[in-house]
Amino acid sequence: MDSYDVLVIGGGPAGYVAAIRAAQLGFKTACVDAFERGGKASLGGTCLNVGCIPSKAMLDSSEKFEVMQHDFADHGINVQGATIDLGKMLGRKAAVVDKLTGGVAYLFKKNKVTSFFGLGRLVRQDEGAWVVDAAGTEVKAKHVIVATGSSPRALPLAPFGGHVVDNSGALAFEGVPGQLGVIGAGVIGLELGSVWRRLGAQVTVLEALPGFLMAADDAVAREAQKQFQKQGLAFHFGVNISRVEQDDTGVSVTYTEKEQEVTARFDKLIVSIGRVPHTAGLGAEAVGLALDERGFVKVDGHFRTNLPGVYAIGDVIGGAMLAHKAEEEGVALAEMLAGQAGHVNYDVIPWVIYTSPEIAWAGLTEKQAKEKGLKVKTGQFPFSANGRALGHGDPRGFVKVVADAQTDKLLGVHMVGPNVSELIGEVVAIMEFGGSSEDLARTVHAHPTLSEVVKEAALAADKRSLHM
Ligand code: FAD
Repeated sequence: MDSYDVLVIGGGPAGYVAAIRAAQLGFKTACVDAFERGGKASLGGTCLNVGCIPSKAMLDSSEKFEVMQHDFADHGINVQGATIDLGKMLGRKAAVVDKLTGGVAYLFKKNKVTSFFGLGRLVRQDEGAWVVDAAGTEVKAKHVIVATGSSPRALPLAPFGGHVVDNSGALAFEGVPGQLGVIGAGVIGLELGSVWRRLGAQVTVLEALPGFLMAADDAVAREAQKQFQKQGLAFHFGVNISRVEQDDTGVSVTYTEKEQEVTARFDKLIVSIGRVPHTAGLGAEAVGLALDERGFVKVDGHFRTNLPGVYAIGDVIGGAMLAHKAEEEGVALAEMLAGQAGHVNYDVIPWVIYTSPEIAWAGLTEKQAKEKGLKVKTGQFPFSANGRALGHGDPRGFVKVVADAQTDKLLGVHMVGPNVSELIGEVVAIMEFGGSSEDLARTVHAHPTLSEVVKEAALAADKRSLHM
């Protein structure tokens, strides 16, 4: 029986990064992953195959179409008769995914990580090592890392199938739906809803919560909702869905909103109401791997499960269900196994929504900081007062800085506007070093760039912004 120092179950961002880092640290490493795309093994998990990467490829294609239709004329560029070749757009998306998933396979080879394609199942403990069924072959491993990720949460009233789709289905419609329903106004619903609206669908978003993006800063959420409504996304909050019926041509959704019963008809319905931990096929029950009441694998601060030698990371342990959080856990765990001080700073995780305008934040919102009893000061600066944003023709949104009123320490930065997915990077770096709003304000920012808005927001926290 082949024997490994580290065997990783799951080849998504948590698992493949853990495997590469473990191999770099000198462990004999293998990874078993069951993801299949087009009948073939495809490493990279949800993120590379049906999540982060294909959604961004479609967001970029659809945004180009939108900008060309609505903004080119302002730049003095006239384009007539633009049409969409959806097959080609989807083909481009698939090519981007192929390149990246193939890239993970290349990295495994380069780092001498053995790759198994199929299910990984914990079998038994045997003389201090674990026996794992890796795609039908029994192997031994001293350390097993469970990185089996998550799956879309289904709505019991509307199981996936037919015209009711999850994220995978919503990234592969064969035609642009005329009427598209989206249940859930979270990150995935907003991103996928935006893609199809830009391509011509009438999009209606149904949300059970009473308000929009309640995890974001209030000012950011208000501005984003205003912009999305202007684009034509229709939102209904506080809805209670009571019936979902499919027939050959579409789906009827009956819901109550403000005590009124409404039935809406859609050609397609995306259900994006969150994700659930994926542990099926892992043999968790048979070996006694402890899960919490919601099905997440229980771990301590060192990613140790209740079974000695078995660890878990990524979406399957809960917390922020984000690829970069999963990757950092992979690195930290591999380093801990090598006797190093692996660490993830959960207080400074960037959150990004890749809509237009984009939304990004890190750290505490103003409300959260106040709830913690902190005295805060805030500074806000709009993109409409920034030369680069005006040159681009996209001056929507602002940056808001939240700092401790006594120490000036940066507590959180919140953004809605052009390219803020990139702007959040410098903020995270400064927060990681425990920096202050003065540090951000005194850092030289290139002119003319969008990043000057971040600097000006930090200056505004001290009531000394220069360009407003
Ligand atoms: P996964 O990526 O789910 O990988 C788990 C892997 O394990 C899969 O390949 C699965 O097939 C495999 N597996 C499961 N059980 C077994 C088993 N028993 N044996 C073998 N293999 C098994 N996050 C971001 O940070 N940025 C984004 O822009 C973003 N966009 C997203 C867009 C969409 C539409 C979706 C759905 C998600 C998005 N996410 C994004 C979230 C991100 O995809 C996840 O947080 C990330 O993939 C989690 O990584 P993971 O390795 O924990 O799990």
